[in-house]
Amino acid sequence: MVYLFVAIGLLVLLLGFMSIKTILFSKREQYGEIIHSNGKVNKNEIVKKLQDAIKIQTISNSDLSKTNYLEFEKFIDYLKKTFPLIHKQMNLTIINKYSLLYHWKGSDSTKKPGMIMAHIDVVPIEEGTENEWDVPPFSGQLKDGFVYGRGSMDIKIHLITAMQACENLIKQGVIPERDIYLSFGHDEEIGGSDGAANIVKYLKKEKISLDFVLDEGGAVNSGAIPSVKKAFAFVGVTEKGYSNLKISLTATGGHASTPPTNTSLGLVSKVICKLERNKMPKKLPIVVKNMIELLGKEMNFINQFIIANLWITKPLFMKIFAKPGTNGEALLRTTIAPTMANASMEPNVLPETASFTVNCRILHGDSGSKLLKHISKKCKGMNYRITNLRMEEPSNVSNTNSDFYKVLSGVIKGIYDETAVIPYLMLGGTDSRKFESISRNVYRFTPYYIPLEDMKRIHGTNERISVDNIVNCVRFFETLIKNC
Ligand SMILES: [Zn+2]
Repeated sequence: MVYLFVAIGLLVLLLGFMSIKTILFSKREQYGEIIHSNGKVNKNEIVKKLQDAIKIQTISNSDLSKTNYLEFEKFIDYLKKTFPLIHKQMNLTIINKYSLLYHWKGSDSTKKPGMIMAHIDVVPIEEGTENEWDVPPFSGQLKDGFVYGRGSMDIKIHLITAMQACENLIKQGVIPERDIYLSFGHDEEIGGSDGAANIVKYLKKEKISLDFVLDEGGAVNSGAIPSVKKAFAFVGVTEKGYSNLKISLTATGGHASTPPTNTSLGLVSKVICKLERNKMPKKLPIVVKNMIELLGKEMNFINQFIIANLWITKPLFMKIFAKPGTNGEALLRTTIAPTMANASMEPNVLPETASFTVNCRILHGDSGSKLLKHISKKCKGMNYRITNLRMEEPSNVSNTNSDFYKVLSGVIKGIYDETAVIPYLMLGGTDSRKFESISRNVYRFTPYYIPLEDMKRIHGTNERISVDNIVNCVRFFETLIKNC
């Protein structure tokens, strides 16, 4: 009996302690100055410039022979014609024919330069979906307050509004304190090895290191937490690692009229099933924990209770948060996605060799070698061969105490009504990771507000951006450059 009372007493104490932690957790303030923007933006002028940029079909294609480089040349000419002051004031270096690096000299040479990035290329329109668009995808039409077209969200908006901000500032006679670089690669959508990678090489050769890099990435989103209306600004401070692996298997070929028990295609399918059933273990890296804690402040008491007491509730949290197929799961484990398969070329021929490719995103705390070990352990005895097509480890985590991060966060709060700024782990990849060797502070943020359900328009059908967003992006870049 005494033990029961002691147990109940301890439980009450524990619950009391956990409740106090929850209350303190929900009251924690987000610090940081708010930087207001006061620039006036010519709405019609910037809308027209973005529309014209969308009309130039700078489509990148993994098969380089299918890329129409004339469009890229047209785009460079278009920028020269559209932003004359930039081309007078800044030094332009063209890298590898189509990538652009602008250099704007600042007033204080003791300060390290900063960089704003974007990319010129866009993804193609998926064959057969052209007619699903409300307007032709490269028309740049303005409809119901939105500019439509491929590149309107990803990422000509970023490029054109950053240029417009610089053009406006030059017109006003503003000179930034530190040197500013604008870096626009031409092949980000296919890996950036011709564009951004060579821009980094060039900067290294010139012995230039950067105080900060700001690239495309997170945005201001509402709908991130079900039942919470409030929008959050998500700033990518790191990216998962990236790997493509080809897994192949050989078996007897011949005529399909007398098949063996398993063809090579049947055997590789078994490997796929094994990998889909045996995922990498879940983990809670610090960067994800910080993000969850900041978001948790806006959640209901039960969720806050769980998040404020992760020291004891972590297993429960991991179960609730990492539901299969969700962003939550992708934030908490290395993912392995079979994406491409290859076998016989004819329906009546047994394939001697069959193969498939997996696209893997490596979480912080895991590594390429842990991924390979996991695959070999789970597929033991299956007699496959593995070819490493691409392997990049998770990127560095950039500092949220840097001076630039404080300015970035202040400018976001100034434009988006004091919204909370959440540093987060990006699930997709950007060109900016290539700049880690010359900057410790690499951030990924596109200054527009998009409801979460609209994010699927990126790379999809009816990609569009509102006129309000276009104006806000110009205001954002103007204020940022003046204060960084
Ligand atoms: Zn992009």
